[in-house]
Amino acid sequence: MSDCDFGLIGLAVMGENLALNVESRGYKVAVYNRTTEKVDALIEGRAAGKNFVGCHSIEDFVKAVKRPRKLMMLVKAGPAVDAIIDQLIPLCEEGDIIIDGGNTYYVDTERRTKKVEDAGLLFVGTGVSGGEEGALKGPSMMPGGSKDAWPHIKEMFQAISAKVGPNNDIPCCEWVGPRGAGHYVKMVHNGIEYGDMQLICEAYQLLKELGGLNNDEMYDVFDKWNQGELQSYLIEISRDIFSAKDDQGGDGYLVDKILDVAGAKGTGKWMSQLALDLGVPSTLVTTAVFARGLSAQKEARVRASKILNGPAEGSNAAMAEGAKALIGDREQFIEAVRKALYASKIVSYAQGFVQLQAASAEHDWNLDYGQSALLWRGGCIIRAQFLDRIKEAFDAEPNLENLLLYPYFEQALEAAQEGWRAVVAAASLLGIPVPAFSTALNYYDGYRLERLPANLLQAQRDYFGAHTYKRVDKEGTFHSEWLDLR
Ligand code: NAP
Repeated sequence: MSDCDFGLIGLAVMGENLALNVESRGYKVAVYNRTTEKVDALIEGRAAGKNFVGCHSIEDFVKAVKRPRKLMMLVKAGPAVDAIIDQLIPLCEEGDIIIDGGNTYYVDTERRTKKVEDAGLLFVGTGVSGGEEGALKGPSMMPGGSKDAWPHIKEMFQAISAKVGPNNDIPCCEWVGPRGAGHYVKMVHNGIEYGDMQLICEAYQLLKELGGLNNDEMYDVFDKWNQGELQSYLIEISRDIFSAKDDQGGDGYLVDKILDVAGAKGTGKWMSQLALDLGVPSTLVTTAVFARGLSAQKEARVRASKILNGPAEGSNAAMAEGAKALIGDREQFIEAVRKALYASKIVSYAQGFVQLQAASAEHDWNLDYGQSALLWRGGCIIRAQFLDRIKEAFDAEPNLENLLLYPYFEQALEAAQEGWRAVVAAASLLGIPVPAFSTALNYYDGYRLERLPANLLQAQRDYFGAHTYKRVDKEGTFHSEWLDLR
């Protein structure tokens, strides 16, 4: 019987919760999973008594959905998506819509959009953010692909997505652009998430090592921060983490028992690699990816910790004094760390949007940057009040070349920079790594300088490789015989 409004393939964490979300908005949902026990488990468990049809074959699944069919996959990104598309194409009819909601590499979505469109069907690659809870209660959604699909899925997607605004009625779901645009925007979201997490970790280490704060005090600081400019989901959950006690019966807090080795699934790495391809300096995400990599070299770090010395207190009394003078008293230090975190976060988002602009120009996506900020305003991991400011900036100046130049952010950086510099300098004097804080500051300083030392670099390139250079005082391209000029 073809009376389902929507079909969902893939009943792992994301798929199961998203299917329940769709059903809860008044839609009838067909579900299918390769391992069919998961279909039965859902139908007999969380979906019992609800408007679901469980299917044991992909043929029955396709037949169960009304035309034009909206068939969404939430399966492991990669070959599984191609395999399912290959199974769906012969079973679907003209105008049916195949949707991939996984964390797919955007190049795959570009390719799949063409393939599915060539078969007379429509394809949507949508970012879905917010993890398990977002999928169930309202994720941030970033759909792109075949534009003709949007009128058919808009109402449902906006109904299930997170909502923001004073009346809680602005959906965090809008059409992003053609082909792989939605998955690209989702990837940048994930890369920014990497940066935010690394920055928060650096603030934590500074407060702990330099400020001497314990977990209870850390909770209070993060709670306060969460009521101001830094208000965000990641600050909020970090605050809560500081209050969690060990769940294995040990004394103390769980956070102190966790091995300092970070995992990664690869979306941050994609953003870094693509930034390199585009030639845009997205240094925050790249630093955050490398910081996870360094954390993973635990055994090497343990060995090195016994050999390599930092500034020893006795022999480097002057440095310790200098750092103390920089950071002031405890309250001043906490405030300086907050400023460093906020300023670095602004730089991180500015870099993310510069990368989006470069990618949009390269792929002819015509992205709406203010809208992207709004899509991330609710339902996702980087949701934060701060994104309203970014939306405002791009609404006021749609062609803004860098968020740092928007008056609100320019003034925020101005207000933060004394504390930001003091924290980075003190950390450096005392041997505490703050790679993301310092790369953000270096980007700020590099971006605001009219003249960088690349003149010497061009001279070097011309000297050893005749790569030529341009002059500041004449048009044209020049090459010099450097040895003859001495
Ligand atoms: P997952 O662990 O990434 O994938 C498991 C699902 O994929 C299962 O339903 C599995 O079916 C299916 N699958 C794997 N290989 C298959 C194949 N060759 N043919 C058919 N089905 C196959 O699940 P997830 O964590 O729910 O994530 C789903 C997607 O959302 C992924 O792309 C993920 O990156 C993305 N995502 C996840 C999160 C999150 O917080 N988990 C957040 C945002 C986005 P079987 O049961 O038969 O093995």
